Amino acid sequence: MMIHAIKGMNDVLPGAKERFLDSAVWEKLLGTFRNVLESYGYRWMIPPVVEDTSLFSRGIGTETDVVSKEMYTFSDRGERSLTLRPEATASVVRAYIEHNLCNTDPVQRFWYFGPMFRAERPQKGRYRQFYQIGGEMFGAAHPSADAELLLLLKQVCDKLHLPNVQIKLNTLGDDASRTQYRQALLTYLVGHEATLCESCQKRLHINPLRVLDCKRENCKAIVQDAPDMLDSLTPEAAGYFAELETLLAQLGVDYSRDKHLVRGLDYYTGVIFEFTSQALGAQDAILGGGRYDKLVQELDGPSVPAIGFAAGVERLALILSQQEIQVAPTDLYLVPMAETYAQALLLADQLRPAIAVEVDVTGNKLKQQMRRADKLQARFALVLGSDEIVNGQARLKDLHAGTEQVVELSPAALISAVKG
Ligand code: AMP
Repeated sequence: MMIHAIKGMNDVLPGAKERFLDSAVWEKLLGTFRNVLESYGYRWMIPPVVEDTSLFSRGIGTETDVVSKEMYTFSDRGERSLTLRPEATASVVRAYIEHNLCNTDPVQRFWYFGPMFRAERPQKGRYRQFYQIGGEMFGAAHPSADAELLLLLKQVCDKLHLPNVQIKLNTLGDDASRTQYRQALLTYLVGHEATLCESCQKRLHINPLRVLDCKRENCKAIVQDAPDMLDSLTPEAAGYFAELETLLAQLGVDYSRDKHLVRGLDYYTGVIFEFTSQALGAQDAILGGGRYDKLVQELDGPSVPAIGFAAGVERLALILSQQEIQVAPTDLYLVPMAETYAQALLLADQLRPAIAVEVDVTGNKLKQQMRRADKLQARFALVLGSDEIVNGQARLKDLHAGTEQVVELSPAALISAVKG
């Protein structure tokens, strides 16, 4: 019986029928993110995909949906509980602590790209293995760090020409603000307890803030008039948020404050944000993030403030795949004869990377080789037999124009002929 990929886990392929799974789309996405992130001083980190389960239960919080319902956890030959990571911030923080990175430089920025695993119900924009590109910045507790990150993310969206991106911003304040807000919210919600959905009735006493995130109409209506976090902020937390808002205005970053915005992971502390796009359906969040000033300490590291983001690659690819993406064509199809394979492979090597060359390595007859050159829609083809090598000249066929010219068989002459 044919073996299929696991439900909710996708193959990303060149020329995939479902355009968002086309690796050319992913290449554009990853390249754009990487260029922008590295130009802001973010450096690449590659943590493992499997971690000790306690990293996530302690880091993300046992009451979150991600940890309580969605983790792929298994035991390692019956000895240790391991988990396929559902997100990478906890891993980056673990690595940061484990390798004493805070001792090398007080302020550091890292980026990552890789698969995450959550046992969610698969649907458009929601998968069980999905990819995130993320960034984490350690050591800066000033609102300009938050502003810088939002500016960076806006630049990525602009460079990718993503249509109708909305930036939603909120703050969870500091500890004192949160304690006060939690109480105010709880008092309000308890008054409506009977009309809340079953899961919100449970959430209410564990983490009332999660009720703000409920998608059910009834709960949404109740939350509409819930107290606003801004009214519970301490003067320091209010000052921080106001300073960020001023900076964003000066930087030209448009956003809307969403008093109901909360995040699904428990480690967030101050400013939180989400970018959404109307080009998607129900799963419209393309990236999210915020401050997590306590997480390094909670995972037994020093007290280091931090802020980060994670972007969903499939959702960005769903938007990008509506645009035309140019795949770099093969410039030259080099056709060797039986006796010239070594010369052809060497010549191709000298022509790259100035031009993209594919050598016909099938061992087929000339007719089939030329058919493949056409199918590939290569721009030029060149047949390299021993006569050509002896004469130092060959015929360069322009497959698009249907013409040909004699060229000298030197890398410089060939590159200039192909590049026009
Ligand atoms: P989170 O790690 O939950 O803050 O999510 C960050 C981003 O990852 C979201 O804004 C989505 O773009 C993406 N994402 C989260 N869960 C999934 C999923 N199950 N499938 C695809 N993308 C996801």
